[in-house]
Amino acid sequence: MLWSGWGDPAKAVTLPEPVVRLLRDALGVREPAHGPAAFEEVRLPVPALPQPVLAELEAVTGAKRVRTDDDARIRHTRGKSTPDLLLMRAGDASDAPDAVVLPGSHEQVLDVLRVCAAHRVAVVPFGGGTSVVGGLVASRTGFAGVVALDVRLLNRLVAVDAESMTAELQPGLRAPQAERLLAAHGLTLGHFPQSYEYATLGGFAAARSSGQASAGYGRFDDMVMGLTVATPSGTLSLGRAPKSAAGPDLRQLVLGSEGAFGVITSLRLRVRPVPGARAYEGWRFGSFAAGMAALRRLVQDDGPSPTVLRLSDETETMIGLARPDEIGAAGGSGCLVVAGYEGTEGHVARAREHAAAVLAEAGGEHLGPEPGEGWAKGRFGAPYLRDALLSHGATVETLETAGFWSDLPRLYEAVRGALTAALSDRTTPLVMCHVSHVYPTGASLYFTVATAQSGDPVAQWETAKRAANEAILRAGGTISHHHGVGRDHREAYAEEIGELGVEILRAVKRRLDPAGILNPGVLIP
Ligand SMILES: Cc1cc2nc3c(=O)[nH]c(=O)nc-3n(C[C@H](O)[C@H](O)[C@H](O)COP(=O)(O)OP(=O)(O)OC[C@H]3O[C@@H](n4cnc5c(N)ncnc54)[C@H](O)[C@@H]3O)c2cc1C
Repeated sequence: MLWSGWGDPAKAVTLPEPVVRLLRDALGVREPAHGPAAFEEVRLPVPALPQPVLAELEAVTGAKRVRTDDDARIRHTRGKSTPDLLLMRAGDASDAPDAVVLPGSHEQVLDVLRVCAAHRVAVVPFGGGTSVVGGLVASRTGFAGVVALDVRLLNRLVAVDAESMTAELQPGLRAPQAERLLAAHGLTLGHFPQSYEYATLGGFAAARSSGQASAGYGRFDDMVMGLTVATPSGTLSLGRAPKSAAGPDLRQLVLGSEGAFGVITSLRLRVRPVPGARAYEGWRFGSFAAGMAALRRLVQDDGPSPTVLRLSDETETMIGLARPDEIGAAGGSGCLVVAGYEGTEGHVARAREHAAAVLAEAGGEHLGPEPGEGWAKGRFGAPYLRDALLSHGATVETLETAGFWSDLPRLYEAVRGALTAALSDRTTPLVMCHVSHVYPTGASLYFTVATAQSGDPVAQWETAKRAANEAILRAGGTISHHHGVGRDHREAYAEEIGELGVEILRAVKRRLDPAGILNPGVLIP
């Protein structure tokens, strides 16, 4: 992973000429005076951990698995939000951990937590490092130092229960690694977020991730049947049956806990057969409202659901954002729906036929397979484009929310209006949106914003983000549908759950992590 950007540097993209023109002429984007800092220019804080603490950590994992070199520290600094990238590109690694520890077993995780609690060292559980909400920045105040606890060595497929259709997997597996291991058994998770190439199973559970195929396979938290968690107070093992009436479901307390309650060291996940057939296609609607009504009818209907269902608004359709590798060339009028169907040949045929009947009756125009296949081909490409846009002087960032169907139009207008107003001091920003995940009762709205960078693009985005958060709360949406809380949404989350909700979280935190070493400053208001 590129330390100052996204993904495999060999896959870096050059902006197509129409995009450069659009940036210059419509958004007033100008090339920044300076390019990104070189690796050697990055500024790191002086490592704070005393030698005896490092020695105790080395005694747990072995010396090679406690890294204090610049490379390891820089690669474990923050996550991959646009502000995170802007800071790294400016050479600012002031949030770097003092050391990176790589435990190889559940017991070693418990021991690392014991050592850190004894010396008041903050611990940041680290999966793929793709957080976009500040989930990987621990507060240093009151701590002797900060350690990133990287779970990458916990990377095994432990067991497959083909009868129950579950698999036990370790949290450090990146999504493609997990898919490869499961594919050998003819199985898949079906979890394909845009961060698929790098994010881990532990991170998906800890941040309640949702993949692009959630309409068919469900959200990641729906897939979690069981969990093992190492906490400073001991081990928590949860999930004896798919569903249970034995009190509140404590699995739900771990899902979304973002490393603040413990380190997930094992997961029992629901799996599905690798689909024998796949088909993707496009539909066009005259307006976002008409498209939303059609999607709602489709998911509230009794028929088989598509596996992928997304609807771009007019601006996103015009720009062609659903196909990042063809932006500018692939756009169109109206509002594009991408629908995908996966499963057996029979299921794909039935789901497709059913969707066609509902979407056509709702006024949709069938565009054939091309827009859907184009989306599927470029589905992991947008993050690479972001790096190129940042280099050209554009700020590009995303945010998301969710609400009930009856609230969505208001939520959409409120967030779009807030972002446009907050970023319109010099030129009008481009604010695009799509419905990204659908349920019978509501859906998620995913916004992508592009604007000319100001002199301080981090502060510029903070202002816009604050305005969007306020708009979300006022319009009755949730502060996050799938990115999580981290540091960035902490205050808004407190408002969402209220004072009593915050007290409950704090009480759980005190019981599991009495010294408060786990991800201080993240999640818990
Ligand atoms: C370009 C891009 C696209 C994205 N697209 C999507 C998307 O489509 N859908 C989506 O849901 N999200 C998306 N995300 C957000 C991100 O990928 C998810 O939040 C993902 O779940 C994070 O996984 P990770 O392994 O990278 O976790 P990290 O970023 O390493 O960690 C995330 C949080 O979980 C904690 N954590 C990590 N591992 C563990 C563990 N084993 N035990 C306890 N706590 C742990 C961390 O401390 C942190 O607070 C995207 C991010 C980027 C940068």
